[in-house]
Amino acid sequence: AIFLITNVSVATAVALETGMPPVRVWLNTVRHATREEGAIYLAQVGLGIIAAILIDVAPWTMPLLVALALIIARLLRRNIGLRWRAEVDLQISDANLAEAQRLARLGSWGWELTTGAHRWSDEAFRIFGLAPGAVTPTYDAFLRSVHPDDREVVDRTVHDAIRSGGSFAFHHRVRTPDGAERTVHQRGEVVVEAGQKVRIVGTIQDVTERWTLESQLAHQASHDPLTDLPNRACLVDRLAAALATPDRRPLAVLFVDLDGFKLVNDVLGHDMGDSVLVAAGRRLLAASGDADTVARVGGDEFVVLLAPSTTAQAAATAQRLISAIEVPLSLNGTEVTICASIGIAVSGPGLAQSGDLLRAADTALYYAKGRTPGGWSVFEPGMQTEVMARLEMGAALRTSLDRNEFRLDYQPEIELATGRVVGCEALIRWRRPQNITHLPLDFIPLAEETGSIVAIGEWVLTEACRQGREWQELGGGAMPLTIGVNLSVRQLREPGFADRVARILRETRLAPDLLRLEITESVLIDEAASDHSVLRDLKELGVQLAIDDFGTGYSSLSYLRRLPIDTLKIDRSFASGLSATGDDRVIVESIASLAHRLGMDVTAEGIETGSQLQAAIDVGIDRAQGYHLAPPLSLDAIGEFLARGRTTNFRLGRTVGGRAARIQSHERAIGSPGPLPQTAPSKS
Ligand code: C2E
Ligand code: MG
Ligand code: MG
Repeated sequence: AIFLITNVSVATAVALETGMPPVRVWLNTVRHATREEGAIYLAQVGLGIIAAILIDVAPWTMPLLVALALIIARLLRRNIGLRWRAEVDLQISDANLAEAQRLARLGSWGWELTTGAHRWSDEAFRIFGLAPGAVTPTYDAFLRSVHPDDREVVDRTVHDAIRSGGSFAFHHRVRTPDGAERTVHQRGEVVVEAGQKVRIVGTIQDVTERWTLESQLAHQASHDPLTDLPNRACLVDRLAAALATPDRRPLAVLFVDLDGFKLVNDVLGHDMGDSVLVAAGRRLLAASGDADTVARVGGDEFVVLLAPSTTAQAAATAQRLISAIEVPLSLNGTEVTICASIGIAVSGPGLAQSGDLLRAADTALYYAKGRTPGGWSVFEPGMQTEVMARLEMGAALRTSLDRNEFRLDYQPEIELATGRVVGCEALIRWRRPQNITHLPLDFIPLAEETGSIVAIGEWVLTEACRQGREWQELGGGAMPLTIGVNLSVRQLREPGFADRVARILRETRLAPDLLRLEITESVLIDEAASDHSVLRDLKELGVQLAIDDFGTGYSSLSYLRRLPIDTLKIDRSFASGLSATGDDRVIVESIASLAHRLGMDVTAEGIETGSQLQAAIDVGIDRAQGYHLAPPLSLDAIGEFLARGRTTNFRLGRTVGGRAARIQSHERAIGSPGPLPQTAPSKS
């Protein structure tokens, strides 16, 4: 009765709570009851009936019955209860394990070596792209799942382990029936029992995602993101590996540096710079051999590691690479031409380590750049000295301002219509201890490279303006003398450059229109394109702007029109052709007339002979500068020159009318301007 009441009431309670019919609930309970539960029910009911009978027949046996019940309960708890709990725990942990393995894509397998039977876990099936139990697990079935390219090594690894009784862990690819490729990590171990190899067990894990990510990371760590070429670390690895091979043939390292890349970057912007680098990388790849490595090791530096080759072969490759780089490049409609210099180092007794070899190639590059930009040179031990000297010069340059080692020479500029000195160009000289004087071309490029040019340029500007102001006062305003100052691109790119010029003009109290800033052509390309023109800001200060060395770059007069330029200084390379009746003369003549029409005046640079001067006058040039008129003069010499030349010129300029006569007056006026050259004229 109790059994029935309990069952019915519990079933009803559950039915009420779940909404199922009580009979279904009860049937469910019965159906799902385990054997132990059945036994417990039976024991309960049996004991109940026995107890009922005994109470009637022999009540004194009750304590005995209670004792018996306790013993049974105890036994049940020990055996059944514990086992039941353990089973439930096991089921839960099995489920957890299966779930974890599914999440980890981790399968397990076993191979009975004695019977040849194979066992794969469900997840192992799934990793092979099969439904659990879809095929009978065999070694052949396993090998069929392995990627064909990996089968041999997998088979060998497994059998090696069986033979040696050891373990293995390795990656290989599997190919699922739908053709997908996955990467798995296999681990296996031979189980030895009583001295006999009985089975081999292992795990197989699908690590495709991690593997892909790791390969990507490894690629990123060893490649340059912009060009996707190997980076320095990767190059050093490959070089070290190549040097370590028993092949004793020499290896060649080519250190490639793009000439003028900085200019492209500064003038055309970083996006263009990036495109140039990518294009250069592609060209190097295309021009080198399949077995060679092309790496990008720095801003505009590449290294090509050649497969074993002789010095002559390396030099031939270098020449090929240089020619490939030099082909004009069209970027968004702008044509850009860059060149490359290459330093070559070939491995040998003194150059057996990757570091030494790279350093040697770098030295050779530095040497090549110093000598013949756009060329190549092969490393020789003596180069080190010259390179050291340049490095030392760079270091000295940084402190030269503090040590007051710079001075300015001034080269007069003559107005051809009157023969008067109307201006002076300030040209920097670097006088170092031991009486060494460097001309600008020896150190300005280095100063631009190292950034010292900004401070040096500011000194030049201040010094020239101060001097200009002195002359302004001396002349009493009667004869204004324009002072020309050369600027480098780096200076113009400095933020707030125009403000700096304004401050210097204020401090030195030089009339702004007496300052003429000379800029080389390359600056213009960018200026013509940009809206926030530093040239416009400078022009607003009232200073004059001149284009220096006109005709050597790629600018055309048409976009000069858009810029606030006052003067064109025609490069001295045209001067030599000026006196003849050739192309140069025609070019200069048309430049002059076009410039005049655009409201600019024209100066001829590098006038070295009387006939060049005559020709300059004939083609309508406004002003001239050159050794024939006066070389760059020290401060003392220019003072003297001005004191004599100006008065003479002034007088003659006013009295002489015709052209031929004017020339004679020049000869007389400036033919021998006193104690002249204090510095050697520039070689170039
Ligand atoms: P530049 O501005 O074109 O200056 C004229 C150069 O031509 C000077 O060389 C001058 O000595 C030289 N020269 C003058 N007349 C003749 C001639 O008749 N024949 C020949 N063959 N050469 C002549 P220098 O002083 O060696 O200066 C070279 C360049 O260095 C200058 O060219 C200018 O671009 C740059 N430079 C000079 N001073 C500075 C400076 O303070 N800052 C910057 N950024 N650059 C400067
Ligand atoms: Mg100049
Ligand atoms: Mg010039």
